[in-house]
Amino acid sequence: MDIPENVRAVLRTLEAAGHEAWCVGGCVRDAMLGKTPEDWDVTTSAPPQETLTVFGSQAEPTGLKHGTVTVKTPGGPVEVTTYRIDGMYRDHRRPESVTFTRSVEEDLARRDFTVNAMAWNLRGELRDPFGGREDLRRGLLRCVGDPDRRFQEDALRILRGLRFSSALGLAIESGTAAAVLRNREGLGDIAPERIQVEFFKLLPGKQAAEVLRGYPEVFGVFWPELLAMVGFDQRNRHHCYDVWEHTLHALDAVPGDLVLRCTMLLHDVGKPDSFTLDEAGVGHFYGHPAVSRDLADGMLRRLKCGTDFRETVVRLVEWHDKDIPRTDKSIRRALRILGEEDLRRLILVKRADNLGQAPEFWERQRELDKAEKILDKLLAEDACFSLKQLAVKGGDLLALGFSGPAVGAALEELLEKVMDGALPNERGALLAALQKNR
Ligand code: ATP
Ligand code: MG
Repeated sequence: MDIPENVRAVLRTLEAAGHEAWCVGGCVRDAMLGKTPEDWDVTTSAPPQETLTVFGSQAEPTGLKHGTVTVKTPGGPVEVTTYRIDGMYRDHRRPESVTFTRSVEEDLARRDFTVNAMAWNLRGELRDPFGGREDLRRGLLRCVGDPDRRFQEDALRILRGLRFSSALGLAIESGTAAAVLRNREGLGDIAPERIQVEFFKLLPGKQAAEVLRGYPEVFGVFWPELLAMVGFDQRNRHHCYDVWEHTLHALDAVPGDLVLRCTMLLHDVGKPDSFTLDEAGVGHFYGHPAVSRDLADGMLRRLKCGTDFRETVVRLVEWHDKDIPRTDKSIRRALRILGEEDLRRLILVKRADNLGQAPEFWERQRELDKAEKILDKLLAEDACFSLKQLAVKGGDLLALGFSGPAVGAALEELLEKVMDGALPNERGALLAALQKNR
């Protein structure tokens, strides 16, 4: 493992001033896994005031109460935190007080999982009092100390554990797994914003479907709507799985991208509420995309998701079951409404939804291949599908004497005609058409 030069410089400065200093936590874990750490955290024996003094104008007191000083370096900010012990916990959330200590082992003991409780210094010495390296080697996620106690102190650790299992492909050690389930209700006390952060790091993970399958009750604490899908028999020959299993297969079939994963998780969440059985005993879910859309909107709002993200997911959920005929005209229309990025996403969503159905229906993939081909062709030939691309602009219409809402209406009408192929997207032809209609 190579510690980047800017981080080495921070460690050297602290050591030169007579303190201990280590890289700690996620960066040590990721480096051992051969992954490039996103950021490098440093832990030190130096008290926060001392760290501030040592780094002078380079230092910023970003979290003094918890012993954290941010050091600005040419390679980006590095967080330097004094060795600490967390005091009593209140409400399964945050420690009431923190105490600084002289022992790196004591600092490592407050950390959540063994794989996150390792420290590495400039000389390559490793401090690993809980066997994190061995757990990593065996692919195990295990709490530091008694898991029930650790989850009662801070219930967010429950979700962090599932997140590390999903993202790093670690199996959850059985004692830790049992405690995850026993203590799940504590998540009810955690701020939705913090749940969102961990949950959204979990969804893109390579083992997201396995983790969702293993612990639906945990996710049900903040999204109880998911629980109605578990074991819900679809009674329909298109489906070889219940709604939840179908959802997980579909989720597994999209790339590890947050928008796509979240869309797949929610695309059928309205099915249990829209179920009907016909005389032949066959199940139907008429109108389920709209029900899913409304539920998804509420669920994403509850987690305080950003507006753009929520609207994108909600729209893909609403569209997931729409048939898009494989014609230039209909693909252009879909492009007009969704734009290229979301139409490409929709195709991936529809592919995955289909792959979550019984295999005898997988030939539907060919239709999606066709849709994708047409989409590529239209984009390659610069097909017009938005007002931005239209060969006349609002100014042209004003010059012709249009005013007020008539400008927008006339542009829309021209775009319709161009998209239908009734008019070419050429300035002369469009102006002529406008004059004819005056
Ligand atoms: P990521 O790669 O997502 O940043 P990370 O392990 O670095 O993962 P952070 O949230 O950045 O996670 O936390 C840094 C370190 O702080 C962790 O590795 C862990 O040692 C410790 N830590 C973070 N949150 C908690 C917590 N809730 N309880 C105990 N220790 C924690
Ligand atoms: Mg980190």
